[in-house]
Amino acid sequence: MNLETFSFDIDGDGIAHAIFDVPGRSMNTLTGKAVADIIAITNEVASNDAITGLVISSGKPSGFCAGADLGEMNESAGGGGKSEAEMSEAELKAMQFERGFALNKTLRELETCGKPVAVALDGLALGGGLEVALAGHYRVAANDNPKIQFGLPEAKIGLLPGAGGTQRLPRLIGVQEALPLILQGKSFNADKAHKMGVVNELAPSTDTVAKCKAWIKANPDAKAPWDEKGFKMPGGVVHRAPGAGQVATMSNAMLAANTYGNYPAQKNILSCVYEGTQVPIDAGLRIETRYFINTQQRPEAKAMIRSLFLSMQELSKGGNRPAGYPKTEFKKIAVIGAGLMGAGIAYVQAKAGIPTVLVDISKENAEKGKDYSRRLVEKDISRGKSTQEKGDALLDLITTTDNYDDVKGADLVVEAVFENPELKAKITKMAEDVLSADAVFGSNTSTLPITGLAEASQRPENFIGIHFFSPVERMGLVEIITGEKTSEETLAKSIDYVLAIRKTPIVVNDSRGFYTSRCFGTYTQEGMAMLAEGIKPAIIENVGRQSGMPMGALEVSDSVGLDTALKVGRQMAQAAGIDYDSNELGQMMAWLVEDQGRVGRKAGKGFYDYNEKGKPSRLWPDLNTRIDVTVDECPPELKKHLTNRFLVRQAVEVARCFEEGVITDARDADIGSILAWGFAPYTGGCASYMDLIWGIPEFVAEADALAEKYGDRFKVPQLLRDMAANGETFYSRFPPGGVKAKAAA
Ligand code: NAD
Repeated sequence: MNLETFSFDIDGDGIAHAIFDVPGRSMNTLTGKAVADIIAITNEVASNDAITGLVISSGKPSGFCAGADLGEMNESAGGGGKSEAEMSEAELKAMQFERGFALNKTLRELETCGKPVAVALDGLALGGGLEVALAGHYRVAANDNPKIQFGLPEAKIGLLPGAGGTQRLPRLIGVQEALPLILQGKSFNADKAHKMGVVNELAPSTDTVAKCKAWIKANPDAKAPWDEKGFKMPGGVVHRAPGAGQVATMSNAMLAANTYGNYPAQKNILSCVYEGTQVPIDAGLRIETRYFINTQQRPEAKAMIRSLFLSMQELSKGGNRPAGYPKTEFKKIAVIGAGLMGAGIAYVQAKAGIPTVLVDISKENAEKGKDYSRRLVEKDISRGKSTQEKGDALLDLITTTDNYDDVKGADLVVEAVFENPELKAKITKMAEDVLSADAVFGSNTSTLPITGLAEASQRPENFIGIHFFSPVERMGLVEIITGEKTSEETLAKSIDYVLAIRKTPIVVNDSRGFYTSRCFGTYTQEGMAMLAEGIKPAIIENVGRQSGMPMGALEVSDSVGLDTALKVGRQMAQAAGIDYDSNELGQMMAWLVEDQGRVGRKAGKGFYDYNEKGKPSRLWPDLNTRIDVTVDECPPELKKHLTNRFLVRQAVEVARCFEEGVITDARDADIGSILAWGFAPYTGGCASYMDLIWGIPEFVAEADALAEKYGDRFKVPQLLRDMAANGETFYSRFPPGGVKAKAAA
């Protein structure tokens, strides 16, 4: 056998041992080569009479297998031989089925080869990794590896387990237990796996292979439970047993309520389990493959795999960092301004082990900022997530002060004082007076252009925007903004910083509102435009959520503050030469804020009324008295139209950011839109929404139709028309690092 990703030998007892060890990788994934090797091993075990059984284990300390190779899956195209274009529809379908069924078929052959197969699991086994293990007859998991994780996480990235997971897991532990695990993609540890019956035995990691061998010797005629005569599904068959049936029905309803039908994978998983577990496993596996192919071919799956898995992983490892600069180790970082943001920034730095100086106008103020960390530490200790010792060590890393002498020696300053350019200029000077020449100065401003703020700096090449989101400890994204004079080295150091505090950086160029605030604002603006048109508020909110946004547009406006929205609306109108207070929306906002004092969640009243816990209790009923409601029903065509208004409007703004050079890498656009403002994740983010969910020419046509009806806010930039004419996508025109590299050249 000529294997690339497994080693294979046979011991004196005839027990074959296949060790999974993909060369050059720290973790095993099911690459095309690995699947080919599993096929070869299966054939050998089945046909070689000298082999009495098979143990599969991993040669990687990191674990057994992390699942399918999604990078390869994302790129895979073509079936070899005849090109897809030359095939008839029937031939194409048959080829796709054969390809999609290959691993399922092999694992079934292994399961029924007549020889016992045991799997030793010393670390994580996720997705396809767990599915391979489930095709064995016996699983031994290490009980001394706290990092061990099992699960079928495919649904999280728009896929479904396509190598038997939707069929074997329910047959092993019952539909009731299996369905939530598959639908939500949650992982579980070895103990739980053992209790549920997903693994058969726990043992120290050094003994797992020996335990497998011992079991093989004792069970020469092993079969999967579902191949035994008279097999009964644990918990009963889904269409007959009350419990299992109820779960299937409830799951359907809950899925519709939670996802509004936006996530095809979950729907298909339900169908796989429901249909597949009522028939013999061979038929069930074929059903699974059909749903797998249907899911995999959906644009949502392509978009989610690319953004939520591949791009997220790349950016979280510094994929947009300029090359050629040594990695920065941060020995000390100063945070100036210990308010809401500064306090949170100090906490995440200390949590990452970085000595932090927290500066405010008085030591007392700075201490108040540190109290935020104290509260978070206490909470973690009380919930058993941290210990007193670890909590104390974290707090010891934060020094509070009002004295700039303490800032001396910092590798980086993050400024988070009030949003006032004069104050920020003063802070820049005071900090630079004590900083070394190579220290970086980052401003957490949310609105002030970086190039303007950098004018106060003696070293504008070291000046950069480091834009956090609130609450800092929970939001995973940081938007890095380069000013006109920001050097590449400063950018590299800033990315090192964001990675050091375990967040995901996106990099954008200077512009009012940068990238995230500018584009996100269009969602709330569109909601308010709908309100001014007389669309019933409840319809606006429901359609917003149904389109995949985390909150309705009016609720988001309330949390940002209607006073802020009024101020921004007036500023924008003035810049465009429009009298904001003379149009319907302007008058309504002024009435809400200035006459009614309804400034949003912070006041307990805005578009919504809020309860004592600050949660929205209901839409303010009197809102309907102020607006002339002309639309109070929402049939499916209107829902589709309003959904497009919400999503297309945001995407047009993103396209403008590309045209203006604010965004230069499609991954930044996608990840930024999902992590910063929750843009419908099933689309893969704003750029993928245009690329994959619509296709650029179709997107342009839809935006044109909307522009015709609602005006220039839907007008697409010339860039999009050019891309449509040239057959380009955002990922082909703005590839990883492509434009930045070109600009630097
Ligand atoms: P905040 O009002 O809560 O805190 C500002 C802090 O700066 C106060 O503690 C104040 O005492 C301190 N300060 C004022 N003058 C100072 C001086 N001379 N020296 C040292 N400290 C001084 O404000 P915030 O919400 O934390 O916002 C801070 C910055 O972060 C602003 O630029 C804001 O635009 C930006 N930002 C805010 C958010 C948000 O959601 N609040 C999000 C992203 C960015």
